[in-house]
Amino acid sequence: MYSQEFFTRDQLIGKGNPDIIGNSKMHKEVKFAFEKMKEHAYKDGINIEIVSSYRSFEKQKQLFENKYIKFTNQGMTPGKAIEKIIEYSTIPGTSRHHWGTDLDLIDANFPKPESVLEEEHFYGIGPYCKLKEWMDIYAESYGFIEVYTQSDSRKGFKHEPWHYSFAPVSIPMLQSFKKLNLKDILTTENVEGASFFSDDFIQKYYHENILDINPKLL
Ligand SMILES: [Zn+2]
Repeated sequence: MYSQEFFTRDQLIGKGNPDIIGNSKMHKEVKFAFEKMKEHAYKDGINIEIVSSYRSFEKQKQLFENKYIKFTNQGMTPGKAIEKIIEYSTIPGTSRHHWGTDLDLIDANFPKPESVLEEEHFYGIGPYCKLKEWMDIYAESYGFIEVYTQSDSRKGFKHEPWHYSFAPVSIPMLQSFKKLNLKDILTTENVEGASFFSDDFIQKYYHENILDINPKLL
């Protein structure tokens, strides 16, 4: 069992993670477990490829702001643009990808569709069905748990069948993250659109986007 209980604010909001190693962009414990899982999957004919692992605050800020500018230029109000962005993307400082514990996964045995992280690819006759079925059976035994499950009652981010979290590290990280001042994180970084993060919005974002996840990760 992972024993670390203290994480720095910077580490939790994507501004420098001392446990991220090498080119893997994963927390060291995560890398170890991932390699073992990948090896097993490979024997079963699945070639797990990481699309996204650790992501810095700055990178998330770019992603968020690019979308914000694009949507508002298309004529959306700032409020609408933000609602649209947070269907799938997080506000910088709040991404689980900041922790080096969360991975977006596909199967490299299939030619890549134009946009790989689409729900339809993981169901029906989609190229990543085998991966999804395999992960449903084995991922948890390696510590990896689907975060944004397919559940009608779940609010917050939409279903992401590609996004897994290494629970032994991300559970204590979420506990630490919950102790931070979210309003402070969201409003002091000069993120484009931040003036529209009202107190009500921040409350809703906290309960729905950050905490309404797979209960196994709480
Ligand atoms: Zn993800």
